[in-house]
Amino acid sequence: MGGRGSGRRSSYSCKPHTSDSMPLDIRRISREGLLVPGTTFSWQWLVDDRQVAGISVRVDLQGMVLSYRMKCTGEVVEQRVQTQTSPCHLGGQRHWFTCPRCSKRVAVLYAPGRYFACRQCGGLVYPTQ
Ligand SMILES: [Zn+2]
Repeated sequence: MGGRGSGRRSSYSCKPHTSDSMPLDIRRISREGLLVPGTTFSWQWLVDDRQVAGISVRVDLQGMVLSYRMKCTGEVVEQRVQTQTSPCHLGGQRHWFTCPRCSKRVAVLYAPGRYFACRQCGGLVYPTQ
């Protein structure tokens, strides 16, 4: 089919890097007003205005269900992730993910492989400056 955006596929390998592992930031989702049970939305990652990854998210009372198609295999993966809240000192509340592997409270989950997890569990390191 060709067309715009084909080719240059070598830059999207399956190697884990924080910049290429779909960081899902619950603060951004919350800011967009999407953390409402019953809401379904899609979340995209753009590099140079081009979508490199996308998931669909279904919010319910316990957390959210993430479903996405793996870049490497095309397989569709569905994962339930729990969320929690803590009171914010400015009033209101803060939202957190519960890491599916270590149960730690984190604001950002990554998917370096098949499933989303916190940065430590995903084995990701930030590139050193
Ligand atoms: Zn973890």
